[in-house]
Amino acid sequence: MTKMTRRKFMKDSIQSSAAVSTGLVGSSLFASCGQSNSSVGVVEAIIPLPIQVVIDDVGWWSGEDGSEYQEPYRTGISRSHVPADYQAIVDLGKALGIQPQAATVLGEWDKQNILRKVPHSTWMGDKWDNSQWVGPWLEEAADIINNNKDNFEITVHGLGHEWWVDGKFTRAEWADDNGVMRPKEILEQHLDAYAEIMHQNKLGELPRSFVPNAFRHSFGVTKGNDISLAQLLAGRGFTQINTPFSSMFNSEAAQYGFFGVDSGIMTIDRGADFLDWNIIGGIPNGEIKGPTCGMHWPNLLHKNPERNSEVVARWVKILAPYHQRQETMLAKNSVEFQQQLAHNKLSKLKVADNAIKLDFSDTKNVGTIASNEELTVKVRSENELDFSSENIKIVSISSQKSNNSMLYNMNLEITNVNGAVVTFKNKS
Ligand SMILES: [Zn+2]
Repeated sequence: MTKMTRRKFMKDSIQSSAAVSTGLVGSSLFASCGQSNSSVGVVEAIIPLPIQVVIDDVGWWSGEDGSEYQEPYRTGISRSHVPADYQAIVDLGKALGIQPQAATVLGEWDKQNILRKVPHSTWMGDKWDNSQWVGPWLEEAADIINNNKDNFEITVHGLGHEWWVDGKFTRAEWADDNGVMRPKEILEQHLDAYAEIMHQNKLGELPRSFVPNAFRHSFGVTKGNDISLAQLLAGRGFTQINTPFSSMFNSEAAQYGFFGVDSGIMTIDRGADFLDWNIIGGIPNGEIKGPTCGMHWPNLLHKNPERNSEVVARWVKILAPYHQRQETMLAKNSVEFQQQLAHNKLSKLKVADNAIKLDFSDTKNVGTIASNEELTVKVRSENELDFSSENIKIVSISSQKSNNSMLYNMNLEITNVNGAVVTFKNKS
């Protein structure tokens, strides 16, 4: 389904008799349109598309792109990374009220050289020596992450980003150039090592989200394997993979447009980034066309880390409006994001008889590991309204005035998996 039809699908309205011919009535493919008998005027409800910010290649301390001499594609920022580069992610999250996903490479956080024993993980093999990157900056950065958990999510990206055999790498760590998953026994060792480096640095448990490095990934099982990478990750408690479908093998098997469900893992289309991976700072502009605003760490940073905030401010400026619009929202974290994306695609909504009618019959069977018990509905209305429901919990409602109308942001918690009705009336 295209974006346009999907949006139409979600969008329905009722109108006062004076406005019936504006074209909004009848725009839904599924819902029949109702017309209010009361004087509530035009009311339009949408399950907005959630947008998540995903930042790749966080975690390096060296900023060198080593790809010319068999070291990893790092960030190419031509300086070492510093704790202030982590603070930039937190600052972006705080300014927008979100938890950006930091797709993190942890090799240069290895305090005990455990990667010596992890096959294919570094260019040095069993002579791996990370001593030059062990220092107080590790604790400083860990403190920034741990003290700002609502605004920083560690997402697994890898240990070394590539896959080395006898000191030479191919792309990439989790799958090869044809998207074929690396041997699962070795990937399990990579995940064990990732968890161990997390513990070395007191960063918590293995994350639940994943970005394949170099976007080498396949949806489903690949040649020579008996399980998919998603299934392997599901066994470790992961719920989400984010990667561009344009380069994902077998992307046609993804069932729901912007996402597919692979062994219970929601696999999300990253779409195209605003900027190339190695642009330092840079000026993002354009439109986000799907559920992900993807970038690479240097895109958010300045050559002079003291000026990182100038770059962060540019991203805040481009992203903030997506939370104000009726059609989109910035998800506050991965859980809200996954729930909302499923509802955006699969829950049916119609407005009729002074009520918003929600049908969850497709959503409840989506098969993701994450639950779908919460959603956001945005309601635009000419008049100020009161909302109530007997079969869904209205957790919170906030409102703003825009263009002579009210825009309500309603957070709902599902109590009946089949559907719900939220009634509205003019504010008393
Ligand atoms: Zn990467």
